[in-house]
Amino acid sequence: MHSAARQASAARQARIASEARAAREAREASAARQARAASVPVAAPSRAGIRTVQRRLRAEQGAFIPKPRLPVVDEIVATVLSQHTSDINSGRAFARLKQRFPAWEQVADAPAEEVAGAIRCGGMAAQKARRIQQILAVIGDREGRIGLDRLDGLGDGAAREYLESLPGVGPKTAACVLTFAMGRAAFPVDTHVHRVAARLGWIPAAATADKADRLLTPLVPADIRYDLHVALIAHGRTVCRARRPRCGACVLRDLCPYSGSGDAAGAVTDTQRERARPADLAG
Ligand code: SF4
Repeated sequence: MHSAARQASAARQARIASEARAAREAREASAARQARAASVPVAAPSRAGIRTVQRRLRAEQGAFIPKPRLPVVDEIVATVLSQHTSDINSGRAFARLKQRFPAWEQVADAPAEEVAGAIRCGGMAAQKARRIQQILAVIGDREGRIGLDRLDGLGDGAAREYLESLPGVGPKTAACVLTFAMGRAAFPVDTHVHRVAARLGWIPAAATADKADRLLTPLVPADIRYDLHVALIAHGRTVCRARRPRCGACVLRDLCPYSGSGDAAGAVTDTQRERARPADLAG
């Protein structure tokens, strides 16, 4: 073998070995995180304890600013688009969808590929387009038009039940719509809320998304649910991150049984959430 070929072969072998080592280390770190998260003692927090968390996060993050309220159907579509992508990308996808199809009836009637093309920047475009069209079709069939303003006349339970009866709409999407579009006191439990709550010992690390929703919502005082939801997401993104929580800089450190684990992380809750969710989109 020529020397150049030998060198290329050696470089390839070294790269393969390095990737294998990285994969092994990632598996070991994941196992350590799972063990750490599972060892956090779980105790339902008092309402006063939850208010303390909300006050501290609010003091750190600044004033709570609710987002502009969208019509119910818009919020459902926006929530579907927000799954598995950043706020920026999902916002762009929503804006492009509205620009391309100004009325929801047009989205419902369009070829799926055209809808997917309009939301491409939000990722998982084919699945999201299919799900959006399924939801719009069901609303159109039931209501005779694609609009859900009438949900404003329903109680929280009935409105949630209606929303969760739509294709692919689960507790999280329903809670988002109730909170953001209808001003109801729901408590959406997304991956960040779930992870931080598990580390604080409010819910078991192994709780599924549905169970986390059922456990957390009644614990959180109604008047701070929206605020705390937003605060926990910001905290989960910036401080209580999945892989390297910044416990040393955390204003909840003295309240948190997970504190002190250094860069040990609670990504286990993310993994366990996914275990109970459909492979493509979960509500
Ligand atoms: Fe998260 Fe650490 Fe703060 Fe606990 S102390 S909430 S684990 S960042």
